[in-house]
Amino acid sequence: GDSRLRLPPWLKTSIPKGKKFSELKEQLRELKLHTVCEEARCPNIGECWGGGKHGTATATIMLLGDTCTRGCRFCSVKTSRAPPPPDPNEPVNTATAIASWGLDYIVLTSVDRDDLPDGGSNHFAETVKEIKKRKSEILVECLVPDFRGDRNAVKTIVESGLDVYAHNIETVEELTPFVRDRRAKYRQSLATLEAVKTFNPDMITKSSIMLGLGETDQEIHQTLEDLKAAGVDCVTLGQYIQPTKRHMMVTEYVTPEKFQHWERVGNDMKFLYVASGPLVRSSYKAGEFFIASILK
Ligand code: SF4
Ligand code: SF4
Repeated sequence: GDSRLRLPPWLKTSIPKGKKFSELKEQLRELKLHTVCEEARCPNIGECWGGGKHGTATATIMLLGDTCTRGCRFCSVKTSRAPPPPDPNEPVNTATAIASWGLDYIVLTSVDRDDLPDGGSNHFAETVKEIKKRKSEILVECLVPDFRGDRNAVKTIVESGLDVYAHNIETVEELTPFVRDRRAKYRQSLATLEAVKTFNPDMITKSSIMLGLGETDQEIHQTLEDLKAAGVDCVTLGQYIQPTKRHMMVTEYVTPEKFQHWERVGNDMKFLYVASGPLVRSSYKAGEFFIASILK
């Protein structure tokens, strides 16, 4: 029989609508930009692109190609030891497109490029600079790899002019070897987040945890404590959803009430903001949360 869990009702989503959403979608067609939002068919696209009460529209763009040098058990991105070299025109082309698109907050992310000596950090930094040169008011978040713990790569990103530095811890320490690629280490991820603050104590840092992989409450609590101790400002918690049958199985569909519980725990720990819910992703309404937290 099929031992997989049935999808609970709170994970079924509706078709996005709204004026700002349709405008952005229309503009995107001409720009040749590849958003994670569309390509991963993210269920939050209506909310993110629409912006909330602050009207801050967020989208996520993937840099450095579609092929990763790592293979995590929860991720459906394709893997190769030697992906094609990065497109040297990507920073300028991406920045030009982003600047002409009506967005307020952009998340730049990438696959892991362990084949590149700098892990792709200069490519990220260049893209940030090109965006800011064209439209300084766009808020830019970089959701970056661990760069194998390379502090120089972290520094390159911190000094690029970005607004938020994000790196996902993904899961609790105990499950890390079973969930993430073996080159990814829980302590190494914490160390890169901590390093950000040594280069710029005011830089906002952010991390994300997936739930439903078999972690205990005590382990989740410990992970939040560890992130706090590493100086992380913002945390998101969301449900792991199995991308295909070949990927890790979901152990549990965590209820919306339990996600609310973690949001309260995080707020009590005095994170700048905590976004926690079944469909929350690392970049979920990032612009809205960012603006709301600085207005707080
Ligand atoms: Fe895009 Fe991230 Fe929002 Fe999904 S959660 S729509 S990927 S910005
Ligand atoms: Fe996916 Fe990132 Fe893991 Fe690569 S490193 S397999 S992109 S989660």
